[in-house]
Amino acid sequence: MKYIHLSVLLIFANIFLNKTITNSKNSIIMTHTNNETVYTLPALTYSYNALEPHFDQMTMEIHHTKHHQAYVTNLNAAIKDTEMSMMSLEELMKNISRFPVAVRNNGGGHYNHDLFWKILSPDGGGAPSGELASAINSTFGSFDQFKEAFSTAAKTRFGSGWAWLSIDENGQLFISSTANQDNPLMDVVEKRGTPLLGLDVWEHAYYLKFQNRRPDYIDTFWHIINWEEVEKRYLALKK
Ligand code: MN
Repeated sequence: MKYIHLSVLLIFANIFLNKTITNSKNSIIMTHTNNETVYTLPALTYSYNALEPHFDQMTMEIHHTKHHQAYVTNLNAAIKDTEMSMMSLEELMKNISRFPVAVRNNGGGHYNHDLFWKILSPDGGGAPSGELASAINSTFGSFDQFKEAFSTAAKTRFGSGWAWLSIDENGQLFISSTANQDNPLMDVVEKRGTPLLGLDVWEHAYYLKFQNRRPDYIDTFWHIINWEEVEKRYLALKK
């Protein structure tokens, strides 16, 4: 008799729970239909061969159309029909510890590459000017010392990852490196801030042209940095 009561109770509990879960799912799905974000691969503002002889055409094309596209495709699959599809990419990054690892890897991959293409330019190179130049000089001693410290961060990142110049919440510049597709926005990294400049040191970014010579790839990066874009980002975030 006791067991019958229990099983009846379980059946009712089950019906109640299923109904609740179904209802909450439906309501989430419905609100999503208007606000859901579907990410797309951003077009480059220059051609794949425009950064020659520094970054080669084949690497640029594969990096953009295959690697970056895969991050976009996998990010969309990971957030589809969830609350994550209603958040901005920045919000996702800032709360990444709450979300699945697929969002960390592919959301990071999309954010990082989107920034990377923008801070490169066929007309780039040279040195920053204006307030960014002053901030770099006062933080790192000189532009050459900054270059040295940034290059060291990029060279010493073990395995795949990124080197960054970022600005923290106090308006201070800092250099860091992160593993895989992590970035300084994420709530899982040692030092948090907003990236202004990033260098991809995954082998897919250089292996076709430079093979194992990551330092040569890092040296050539300085010839194609779009300092105008980096300065624009700095001015928008400085205190
Ligand atoms: Mn990459």
